[in-house]
Amino acid sequence: MIAERYGLIGYPVSHSLSPAIFGAAFAALGMSASYDLYPIPPDHLAEGLKELLEGGVNGLNVTVPHKTAVVPLMRGLDESARLAGAVNTIVSGKSGVVGFNTDSGGFSDSLDALGVPDVMGGKVLVLGAGGAARAVGVSLAQRGASTIFLANRDPERARNLAAALQGHFSNLHLRVVGFGPEEIPAAAEGCVLCVQATSLGLMPGDPLPTDPAIFPRNCFLFDLVYGPKETPFVRRARELGYRAADGKEMLLRQGVRAFRLWFKREPPVEAMRGALFQVLGKKPMDQG
Ligand code: NAP
Repeated sequence: MIAERYGLIGYPVSHSLSPAIFGAAFAALGMSASYDLYPIPPDHLAEGLKELLEGGVNGLNVTVPHKTAVVPLMRGLDESARLAGAVNTIVSGKSGVVGFNTDSGGFSDSLDALGVPDVMGGKVLVLGAGGAARAVGVSLAQRGASTIFLANRDPERARNLAAALQGHFSNLHLRVVGFGPEEIPAAAEGCVLCVQATSLGLMPGDPLPTDPAIFPRNCFLFDLVYGPKETPFVRRARELGYRAADGKEMLLRQGVRAFRLWFKREPPVEAMRGALFQVLGKKPMDQG
């Protein structure tokens, strides 16, 4: 008999890799828990969430387009969700539902797992200004980066992100720069890390967000996009001799953090990573 129920809400969710990742964890630990996909249209979010929780679901992941919209539906918000301005993990307990965000911590854990050079006191360029860029900005600030350059196609969105981060981290130096071929190379000077947090690279034929050759030789290039093969940005960076990684480790690590929140025990990380790589190998470029 299934003792506990978990899952993912979003719209759509059918492409998600999370059932494979969590299913592998449950199997490795012999747990009688399930992880299911729950597509909920945006105009049905409050009712859909209520139905699931009243139906006995113990915890949920939240993905696009609900990460911000679920915030007011939570009874409590963890600091991680407050800083991110979004919820990606819900824990349902006796005192109601509490929203967490494991994207920022997952990004941070992936920096450690990938051996990315220390950003303490360093300068980082973040491409993009959406939800992923915000999670990255929080993590970089918490890890002591001195300066973050934000470059986004829509500069207004980058300015809003800079203001939100500055509100939480008053000592952080934030600079908004244009996404153009002159501004990004100037901002790349002296960077120890570049985080590619736009969705460019998801679709076949997408242009590179920028030419990796503009970065200093010791700069680590981290593309949050992932797929069965190297992303075009990572491929080009490695061809040029840079250390680079795609977003698989971050995806894994945010799931690892969600597991800890739900079960208060250590997850089988290698089993989860194995499932992620296996399922990605069978699927086209996908997100989950
Ligand atoms: P989002 O909030 O929708 O933001 C999308 C970002 O991509 C914005 O900065 C947007 O710029 C930019 N963008 C989209 N099309 C572009 C184009 N043609 N040229 C230049 N910039 C473009 O999405 P998100 O949640 O931040 O996620 C961004 C990407 O990160 C996702 O697509 C996903 O691949 C990846 N991600 C990975 C993980 C992981 O665990 N590895 C987690 C979250 C996200 P504008 O503001 O100008 O539209």
